Amino acid sequence: MILHISNLSKTYPNGVQALKSVTLTIPNGMYGLLGPNGAGKSTLMRILATLQEPDSGTVRLGDTDVLNEKDAVRRTLGYLPQEFGVYPKARAEELLDYFAVLKGITGRQARKEVVGALLRQTNLWEVRRQKLGGFSGGMRQRFGVAVALLGNPKLLIVDEPTAGLDPAERVRFLNLLSELGEQSVVILSTHIVEDVSELCTRMAIINRGQILLEAEPLAAVASLKGRIWRRLIEKRTLPQLEREHRVISTKLLAGRTLVHVYSPEAPGAGFERVEPDLEDVYFSTMAGYYGGTRQEGGAS
Ligand code: ADP
Repeated sequence: MILHISNLSKTYPNGVQALKSVTLTIPNGMYGLLGPNGAGKSTLMRILATLQEPDSGTVRLGDTDVLNEKDAVRRTLGYLPQEFGVYPKARAEELLDYFAVLKGITGRQARKEVVGALLRQTNLWEVRRQKLGGFSGGMRQRFGVAVALLGNPKLLIVDEPTAGLDPAERVRFLNLLSELGEQSVVILSTHIVEDVSELCTRMAIINRGQILLEAEPLAAVASLKGRIWRRLIEKRTLPQLEREHRVISTKLLAGRTLVHVYSPEAPGAGFERVEPDLEDVYFSTMAGYYGGTRQEGGAS
């Protein structure tokens, strides 16, 4: 099953152009949609989940026209929104059973099996009789996944799922998602680079409604090899360094500033070559030095 998104555009009534002719091809597996807040990720996710209309463009999931055959898509869609609102007094097993009825799983025995299997898969079996109000953020997110997985979706959309999870919960949650990528299209939207680098076989970077890069994370990292340099500087010298070099990111390190610079050649004294990672891909792309329109152009 392949998801084809073509020339999708969306402008809100207030004039904000949230998507500008977005075109993407998304195969089975985990796909990362990476971009900063306000990039247009949720707008795209909501359109794919049939919750919002674009102004123009087409979306096809296999043979299904997603924008015009919404009922067919909804039967095979799982959607985990950013904030999974829970009913604090409901118990996990009861609520999942209730959602299963809504999803059309009406046979008692079939439902019992499905609900039980999902509670085990999301590691919530032990707490199935507890109220959701007492769940941690990670448990709530895993419950959201259980709901999203009812009915075996061929398309699973997960919008910014790891914000607010502690590191252990995050790892558990990402492991759960990666198991799902085997049979279906799973799209993970996030502003956290590690979510993508640890999990996704393909990715796109989006900013201001435009796709800046579509790539395999490992290949993108490999193609930056030899082009990322670092230097530890005093913060006050940063403006000058920015005038002279293509600075892609800065980080504080023990009171000094660690600068990463994009440069196909050695940028001069004081710089040290670094092994690039996906963060370097992300920041080089966002700065327009990689994958985008200013590729190989001078610093401007
Ligand atoms: P992301 O999920 O990447 O943070 P969004 O899709 O939520 O991005 O937002 C993209 C842009 O559209 C932002 O500038 C945001 O302020 C704007 N936007 C989102 N939803 C609405 C809306 N309902 N009405 C007006 N503007 C919106």
